[in-house]
Amino acid sequence: MTTIATNLQAVHDRIRRAAQSAGRPPSAIALVAVSKTWPAEKIAEAHACGQNAFGENYVQEAMGKITRLAHLPLEWHFIGPIQSNKTRGIAEHFQWVHSVEREKIAIRINDARPARLPPLNVCIQVNVSGQASKSGVAPGDELALARAITALPQLRLRGLMAIPEPTPDAGVQRRRFARLRELKDGLVAAGFALDTLSMGMSDDLEAAILEGATMVRVGTAIFGRRQKQ
Ligand SMILES: *Cc1c(COP(=O)(O)O)cnc(C)c1O
Repeated sequence: MTTIATNLQAVHDRIRRAAQSAGRPPSAIALVAVSKTWPAEKIAEAHACGQNAFGENYVQEAMGKITRLAHLPLEWHFIGPIQSNKTRGIAEHFQWVHSVEREKIAIRINDARPARLPPLNVCIQVNVSGQASKSGVAPGDELALARAITALPQLRLRGLMAIPEPTPDAGVQRRRFARLRELKDGLVAAGFALDTLSMGMSDDLEAAILEGATMVRVGTAIFGRRQKQ
């Protein structure tokens, strides 16, 4: 087997074991393979192993791969910081965007989403570890943004996303993921129909699954160590 095939199998094993400990069906957790910095060939290789959903952080880089791989039935997730001059690329080429944190950006993406395409699936990014340098709305601010997004016809609000500050402390990992789950539960209680918690990466996917992740975004554990971020 190739490395990607072996790695994908190992990640699926981790997801299955974590789901079992959480008493959840493994099918409740979708895997987004984060392919940033990796060439289209690697993505095609992962697809040949049955992986269909891929995450990218840079619009320019992603567009080249999306074009090259247009013959494959892939699902593209935008997970990086969003600059206003890149909203059109996201609106036209992706099925998901996980990193919405401003109403102005949501409106731009909505307005650029072609009418022939279904509404773009959206997650609001929340800064659950409170680092000043990190992206995401402050906890509590997700409600206003959720209201704004729900009013936009070409967007479909699916849930929340977080990238907590890395820590080897599994207890701290779980508390931050639990916080995101509580914020999502709060929105559901307020009447929003949400089904997605996008949380967990190569180093902390078990903690995320124990706290209810429905989508994990995994790069390094599948493709190997990146040269650059
Ligand atoms: C790079 C990245 C990932 C994947 O991180 P790994 O540690 O390589 O698994 C997940 N989510 C986001 C938003 C990323 O930028």
